[in-house]
Amino acid sequence: MTATLLDGNALAKKLRADVAARAAKLTARGHQPGLAVILVGEDPASQVYVRNKVKACEDNGIYSVFDRFPADLPEAKLLARIAELNADPKVHGILVQLPLPKHIDSHKVLEAIAPEKDVDGFHVANAGALMTGAPLFRPCTPYGCMKMLESIEFPLRGARAVVVGASNIVGKPMAMMLLQAGATVTICNSKTRDLAAHTREADVIVAAVGRRNLITADMVKPGAAVIDVGMNRDDQGKLCGDVDFAAVKEVAGWITPVPGGVGPMTITMLLVNTLEAAERAAG
Ligand code: NAP
Repeated sequence: MTATLLDGNALAKKLRADVAARAAKLTARGHQPGLAVILVGEDPASQVYVRNKVKACEDNGIYSVFDRFPADLPEAKLLARIAELNADPKVHGILVQLPLPKHIDSHKVLEAIAPEKDVDGFHVANAGALMTGAPLFRPCTPYGCMKMLESIEFPLRGARAVVVGASNIVGKPMAMMLLQAGATVTICNSKTRDLAAHTREADVIVAAVGRRNLITADMVKPGAAVIDVGMNRDDQGKLCGDVDFAAVKEVAGWITPVPGGVGPMTITMLLVNTLEAAERAAG
């Protein structure tokens, strides 16, 4: 059996067209949606992500402010800039690219963003509200994964889902969204004993660890949906996920490629969150 490809680029294109149309309507009413992106330091991967986010804004009618700061930026200056952006009516979403340099307390920075502009959904108010089912924003990567499952009308109610990885930005919110959709969810971390015993039971596997070939074909139940969040480099320097794609696609029912799967959906959900923030602000 060969799995059906869950094409993140195609779904992202469709969703972005809707974002662009809604952004144009708001702009015509004098409320162009705006996103501020802050990058501190020179991390090469972060520079690429941030550039892609800013470009996606431009391409879809969202105004963007891009602040680049040197790696030795004092924490107080970053907090002061966030305070300015919190007060700026042209800015509806604020994103601070992680990771931040070690001398800056990421928690303090994320908590400084006004919850109604927290388009990454990392503020404790939104993370907490996700637990109770009604956040202002859902974190973009797991939200994108949910949209991909929705796009194939995957029957999550009663399904067994295994999330491999338990970070605050991907694994934990992913598990919460799957749970809210009616799945029975297991969250695995680096201490999990016999990972394969868990994944083999899963109707849906979400791999979000950052280790190439962690999920092999023998770990996947035939017909399962396999969502690969991981972003790694192979020996040739090519981008790859956490899933042994070539082998797993012969077993799975659906599979996301890397690149072209979760990545474009993450940026798309950032646009959606920014647009919705602007729609809320415009009443
Ligand atoms: P992270 O903060 O490093 O978290 C990794 C998680 O994986 C941790 O919970 C860790 O467990 C767990 N883990 C490590 N080894 C494991 C193992 N052998 N078995 C099971 N769990 C294991 O990473 P992250 O920020 O969540 O990102 C995960 C991956 O997704 C990375 O490759 C990242 O680049 C990628 N990513 C992609 C996108 C996208 O748009 N495509 C967005 C965000 C992240 P402990 O909690 O026990 O340490």
